[in-house]
Amino acid sequence: MTTSPKNEIWTVFKRLMGYLKPMKGMFVLSVLGLLTYGLVDAAFIAFIKPFIDEGFSGQSVVPSVTSLTGGVGMTSDGFKANKDVLTLAPLVVIGMFALRGLANFVSTYGISYMSARLIMDMRQQVFEHYLSLPVSYIDRENTGNLISKVTFDTEQIARASGSALISIVRDSITVVGMLALMFFYSWKLSLCILVIGPIMGLVISVVSRRFRKVSKQIQAAMGGVTATTEQMIKGHKNVLAFGGQETEAKRFAQINDRNRHQNMKLAVAQSVSQPVIMVIGSFALAFVLYAASFDSMKTDLTAGTFATILAAMLGMLQPIKNLTRVNAEFQRGIAASTTVFELLDTEPEEDNGHYEVARAAGNLRFDDVSFRYANQDKLALDGVSFEVRQGQTLALVGRSGSGKSTIASLITRFYAGLERGDILLDDVSIYDYSLKSLRNQVALVSQQVTLFNDTIANNIAYAYPGEVTREQIIKAAELAYAMEFIEALPEGLDTQVGENGVLLSGGQRQRIAIARAMLRDAPVLILDEATSALDTESEKAIQLGLDNLRQNRTSVVIAHRLSTIESADQILVVDQGCIVERGTHKSLLEQNGMYAKLYQMQFGS
Ligand code: ADP
Repeated sequence: MTTSPKNEIWTVFKRLMGYLKPMKGMFVLSVLGLLTYGLVDAAFIAFIKPFIDEGFSGQSVVPSVTSLTGGVGMTSDGFKANKDVLTLAPLVVIGMFALRGLANFVSTYGISYMSARLIMDMRQQVFEHYLSLPVSYIDRENTGNLISKVTFDTEQIARASGSALISIVRDSITVVGMLALMFFYSWKLSLCILVIGPIMGLVISVVSRRFRKVSKQIQAAMGGVTATTEQMIKGHKNVLAFGGQETEAKRFAQINDRNRHQNMKLAVAQSVSQPVIMVIGSFALAFVLYAASFDSMKTDLTAGTFATILAAMLGMLQPIKNLTRVNAEFQRGIAASTTVFELLDTEPEEDNGHYEVARAAGNLRFDDVSFRYANQDKLALDGVSFEVRQGQTLALVGRSGSGKSTIASLITRFYAGLERGDILLDDVSIYDYSLKSLRNQVALVSQQVTLFNDTIANNIAYAYPGEVTREQIIKAAELAYAMEFIEALPEGLDTQVGENGVLLSGGQRQRIAIARAMLRDAPVLILDEATSALDTESEKAIQLGLDNLRQNRTSVVIAHRLSTIESADQILVVDQGCIVERGTHKSLLEQNGMYAKLYQMQFGS
């Protein structure tokens, strides 16, 4: 958002309030609680005047500040007490404190409730927004930052909208109440506020801007902390194997220190602003004391009026102190809200197509497709054309970086916007399909099998539309040649696989992925072959499983080992985004071109 700071707060605030709409009742109750709390405080001070002027009637001597704050209710010999006011006072005090306590409970409970709900809703929204974002966004962003938006940033908002907001509303009401009292009793003495107020406001606004700026830096630093930790944990094995502990520790120390540094900046701004505000406030107090010594003032003022004004000013000190203290937290919340809202405003995946199909036949065609990744000069694909008929297998071979994965990614519309040409499934442009319908037609088995921290059965049935029976899962596992190893596990299909399937071997994970694709039963299969050398036994099992999976399905295979694609109906050799050769295994060998060379490299002459 490139609005002015004031606008930023207001826009963010309005949007935050939107989250409270479903909790109108709670909101009204909380505001009433806060109002009551502030008003009771102000009323308490307002009682000083009748208490002094009528309770101790006939005396208009200005009492000293110490006797005032030290013991309002003490009767000294010089005062003749007015019975009614004095006997009522204790009851009023208890009543007011009880009311204040109740108001405090209601408002604290209400605001905490709303804040907790707001954060829950917002977290859910951020999480779901990630699910709707295009692959290109996730490619570009730093994972740590994305995670810390769900954890850290929302936590900042929670704090600002909880305790900080309570203090801000309540203390502001108290301050306004006190000010009103002051002006009501003696506008002349209160004039100093008109000078001091704007100066305080200026200081607070400058400091607030600083708070927000530093807070954004803290958020970024926290993203760094998360990212570095995540990277280390993910690569833990490699770090240990390469003895990279020191490198990692140093990297983290740097980021950790940056975070500390930013937090110190915030602390400095906070600890400087508070005394500065207090000193400015003391000028107002000094002015009142000074003005009271003027004779002309004395004739205007009663002891009670003066005491009330003084008490109101003293009563403002604590709320103002609180306000400057929680302002940092509040501004952190505003800064965090800005980042979170910016994220929520990023465009989700484009999904303008309306064509729906229950099950496509599976004729796939690339028609002169050129494609460029965002912010890249070079075309990743340049005029790629091919056709795979229903049930056939197309193999893509070529050096790494030639564009094979790009072809596969375009079929599922992971990257939007072709530079030229079209991709058609059953003669309908894939951009005319709804995303959901299109992706329902495609099963993806990639090299890096993603398993979820759940049982094997649930991993196979992952995101299966509708109810799935045990028999279906077993059937899929059998066809994928996975059942043999699953049965050997202590709990069979109900074995927990651990986070990302760490408890399984590469070959076993691959076979679970094949079973998953089998169960999904989509007409088009995209297969990114595993490059890693698997042991011969699981390789054979995987191959058999894949043969089963490819039956009656249109398959696009990214081949790394040429031995597995000899039977493919069509082989495309991709180089620098272009198709340089095409044919069957036999015809390509006869051409004695690039394919033949690749083949010879893998199998010797
Ligand atoms: P292959 O699968 O044959 O190894 P890719 O399709 O992954 O090749 O890559 C083709 C080209 O596109 C490469 O030059 C690569 O650097 C580039 N590329 C791949 N993915 C991205 C991406 N997400 N953003 C930008 N460029 C990319």
